[in-house]
Amino acid sequence: MQYNELRKDYLLDRWVVIAKERSRRPIDLAKPRPEPIKNTVCPLCVGNENMTPPAIMLYQKENSQIKREQDPLSGERPKNWLVRCIPNLYPAFTPPQQPQDIEKILKSEDFGYAVGHHEVLVESPNHDEDPADAELPQLELVIKAYIDRFKELSTKSYIKYVSIFRNFGLEAGASLSHAHSQIIASPILPANIKEEQQASKNYRQKHGKCIYCDIIEREQKGPRLIFDNNDFVVFTPYASINPMEYWILPKKHAPNIKDLTDDEISSLALTLKTSLKALKVLVNDPPYNYGIHQAIEGESYHWHMEVYPKLAIWAGFEKSTGIYINTVMPEVAAEGLRKVIYT
Ligand SMILES: [Zn+2]
Ligand SMILES: [Zn+2]
Ligand SMILES: [Zn+2]
Repeated sequence: MQYNELRKDYLLDRWVVIAKERSRRPIDLAKPRPEPIKNTVCPLCVGNENMTPPAIMLYQKENSQIKREQDPLSGERPKNWLVRCIPNLYPAFTPPQQPQDIEKILKSEDFGYAVGHHEVLVESPNHDEDPADAELPQLELVIKAYIDRFKELSTKSYIKYVSIFRNFGLEAGASLSHAHSQIIASPILPANIKEEQQASKNYRQKHGKCIYCDIIEREQKGPRLIFDNNDFVVFTPYASINPMEYWILPKKHAPNIKDLTDDEISSLALTLKTSLKALKVLVNDPPYNYGIHQAIEGESYHWHMEVYPKLAIWAGFEKSTGIYINTVMPEVAAEGLRKVIYT
């Protein structure tokens, strides 16, 4: 009998058991897709703009240019939008009601008000737009909208982190089936990001370079590489805790998405589409979450995207210990995704 492997994350103090003995093939995880929920009326569809709060940001097409607008104060809701960003109807974090509240957000070391922003980014007028099959210009607009919202929210004095994420499929927490992402700007820095940022800083002090730049160099030549292009590298991380988990790292070192060029935005759209399409084909369109990890300040962190397919159930051991068991070796996951892309 061979031992299972214990692997530790590149940066986090987190271990995973990579099951070799009971290792599964990606195809074994494919489940039948659940019946799409038949929303009686979709509040995010064109024509139903009045079912949501006024948009904070709209992209509209005007003479082949994209114009950035807001819903007008008159109460009118334009219908000719391409991307629409609205406040979440049930926000986890709400904007400060008066300026003096900003001073008192964190009341003590263990109590504060959940002041911040919680937005829904409607990615397309097309209800079923799936990034795995989307038209690239539309996906580029989504990334541009991520950047616009990050730029605006990250400059607010009370905001410590801007989380941009996507839930796909009911099992991954998407209660609305219309293509959308979410943005939560919070007055606290999440513990995992803090740990990644601190570990990056420590590595830089010790080795004089960025740990993520080093990871790119290593993974680009290794068995976990899915694919790479001029701007991005896509791979399954060494100590993945989710079966089929993969990361997208920009080759250009930058702490956040703020300064992506138009070319890099196009490249990211293609990278995202190619990788999500491979996942969709290989494991029968599984539910997933993805999130962008980035820093508002400082130069030492290296932004990236982490994609977590939802293919495992974490039970007693994972929940009570924070040690995970992954039944698909990251090397096997990468090989499966590579095959879909290159054949
Ligand atoms: Zn819809
Ligand atoms: Zn770097
Ligand atoms: Zn990360």
